Amino acid sequence: MRIADILTFSLIDYPGYPSAVIFTAGCNLRCPWCHNWEIAYGNKGISDIRVENILEGRLKERVKAICVSGGEPTINEDLPEFLDYIKKIGYMLKLDTNGTNPEMVKTVIEKVDYIAIDVKSSPERYPLLTGVERNYWPEVSESIKMARKSKTSYELRMTYVPGLSDVRDIRFFAEFTKGENAFLTIARSTSKFKVSGDLPEKNLGIKIR
Ligand code: SF4
Repeated sequence: MRIADILTFSLIDYPGYPSAVIFTAGCNLRCPWCHNWEIAYGNKGISDIRVENILEGRLKERVKAICVSGGEPTINEDLPEFLDYIKKIGYMLKLDTNGTNPEMVKTVIEKVDYIAIDVKSSPERYPLLTGVERNYWPEVSESIKMARKSKTSYELRMTYVPGLSDVRDIRFFAEFTKGENAFLTIARSTSKFKVSGDLPEKNLGIKIR
């Protein structure tokens, strides 16, 4: 498990609780607008010992919850053991995933208290929004089915990317997540990608975060 960085305090990454955020290194997607691209594509890493020292040290006095994010955590084969470890030392646990690895989602979904799964676009536009040739929608949809069937709390989230996303994506997301815990966020420019424009129309009732 390669950990790129740890944010020791966040008020926005775990619903209802202050949390720490663990950013796992590497990602199987290349979303052009990725705001964590240095973590997703880079070689940044901190040692296991340092990770343990942080998680088992004074952090426990400040936060009760950990969000494991990325990059993409599910590309790591030892993710289940890592999640078990975090649970064992007493934290509530949330996993952020792009949903492209349903086998791993199946393995870990009951280990976490909360899972957030990305819906990048409407199904046919997945390659454009994820920056890879393969259309991962079938895998993502499989992961979402598992979240819907599980006892684990979950949310579905779409990042609207001005200049890349369009109204078909929002319409699809609104319909697909009707009645569920779903959020829309708006991408900001990065040093690699400049957003252009705004939401094309009303957000069709989806909460914006
Ligand atoms: S899935 Fe997430 S971490 Fe990976 S490239 Fe896309 S936005 Fe970045």
